[in-house]
Amino acid sequence: MRTAPVPPMQGRLSIDGEWVSPRADFSSSNPADLAEVVGTFPSATTGEADQAVAAARAAFPAWRRTSRILRAECFDRLAQLIKRDTDTLARLMARECGKNVTECRAEVVEGLHMVQYVFGSGRTPCGEIVASEIAEKDAFVRRKPWGVVAVITPWNFPFAVPLWMLGPSLLEGNTCVFKPSEDTPAVGQRLVELFIEAGFPAGTVNLVHGDGPVGESLVRNPSVNVVCFTGSYEVGRRIQEISASLPDRIVAAEMGGKNAVIVCDDARFDLAVTAGILSAFKTTGQRCVSASRILIQESLYDRYIQRFREVVPRLRFGDPLDPSNFAGPLINRAAVEKVLRYNALATEEATDVIFPGGELTSIHGGRGCYLSPCVYTIAYRPDARVLREEVFGPHVALVPFQTDEDAVRIANDADYGLSMAVITENYRRMRFFRDECDYGMGYVNLPCIGAEVHLPFGGVKKSGNGHPSAAGLIEAVTHKTAWTVNHGTEIKMAQGLTTDLGGEAA
Ligand code: NAD
Repeated sequence: MRTAPVPPMQGRLSIDGEWVSPRADFSSSNPADLAEVVGTFPSATTGEADQAVAAARAAFPAWRRTSRILRAECFDRLAQLIKRDTDTLARLMARECGKNVTECRAEVVEGLHMVQYVFGSGRTPCGEIVASEIAEKDAFVRRKPWGVVAVITPWNFPFAVPLWMLGPSLLEGNTCVFKPSEDTPAVGQRLVELFIEAGFPAGTVNLVHGDGPVGESLVRNPSVNVVCFTGSYEVGRRIQEISASLPDRIVAAEMGGKNAVIVCDDARFDLAVTAGILSAFKTTGQRCVSASRILIQESLYDRYIQRFREVVPRLRFGDPLDPSNFAGPLINRAAVEKVLRYNALATEEATDVIFPGGELTSIHGGRGCYLSPCVYTIAYRPDARVLREEVFGPHVALVPFQTDEDAVRIANDADYGLSMAVITENYRRMRFFRDECDYGMGYVNLPCIGAEVHLPFGGVKKSGNGHPSAAGLIEAVTHKTAWTVNHGTEIKMAQGLTTDLGGEAA
């Protein structure tokens, strides 16, 4: 519930363990009430971004040489601090990004789980011993950190997503420069404050604030070895293009989605409705994994539409700090305008508009970014833009299908491939969808949202470039080395290669 106004946070950069540049170049506002300023922040200059990268580079050798277990133990201390601050972090997040406080709490817990996973990983095996053809040789696959990792993140998961990337990067011995979204800098800064309080050495976690050009100055810096990016496809592609000119730059890019829930005619009906509603409208449809397409087998179609007609008007969109609300506002005015454009397009492309969606101006005196859901029916056709493009808001198409083959064809006819769900009681059908659909995260009898950190988080096509986040990120932030040791007193080569020096042996 609302309490007394909170004074705006004073934003600062963190470079080499020092808090610097307390300028107020931009502010972050509460999307539930744009009149409320959450904080004011400096926008890092190119020089400051370069200094942050240089600080990370300077801190790298000592951090790399620190025992992996001692690095992991810093995360144990971080976990205690996150537990201490869970509720205040959740409230700050609710005020800054507009997600309901219950969801924000779940996100803080997700971040905590990532930190606990990283801590636990410190004592698990981190390489392989493999055999050699030569009995006297031992061969190892060992991982080495790349060096400096730039972590560039979106607004919609301002706590957990940075931890998915900072966690494995730091555990493996890399040092980091973190640029949170310009829409959620306060949560980003609070996270770095906790890293510093947990005792991460100066220079291992640096913070720069700002928008696209600040992120791009990190990407253009050749001293950055790895860019861990989560955000839109357009930005991810640009980062990959810039990085292509650097010889060993790794880009792990997690991008958008056009996700589908497939409801088969043997589905448990209530479960299928709940899965559809949560997938489409939780977080006001602003998850990368939100469903903007629900494919329903024809015999269930009318009944499913009818249930949506009944349930959707009962979803309460309102104050993020009121835990009884289902969801909150969109992140900013630009997001509202974008979703309204897609709602208008839906009225042109749809068969029937069930709920047109529109601004909810009665909440907070119209000073927020609230939209009601847009729901429509549409027969699949490949040229319908509403079925192909990411909307990122409360906007969903109900699409009929006849056969399972049709459902796969429709589901896969999108440029993205992030998450999907199938609702069926039939294990053969489940397996068919598992094998035939394009996705990174698949769910059965669940919504297509709701990842857990110990699973890889990624996608295919425009959704990801094959370097999944969270538990999967170790592959991107380390490179594998082969290390071979001869225990014999003479040299024996593999593949029968001779060691004969041609009669000139020493
Ligand atoms: P965005 O792409 O606009 O911004 C993401 C980050 O990139 C921000 O920090 C931004 O400042 C930075 N940025 C912008 N231009 C840049 C440039 N030229 N160079 C470097 N950095 C730049 O995304 P957003 O609006 O914050 O988030 C929404 C998008 O993120 C959606 O497309 C959503 O699907 C996606 N997303 C994906 C995942 C995933 O894991 N696949 C998770 C969450 C969100």
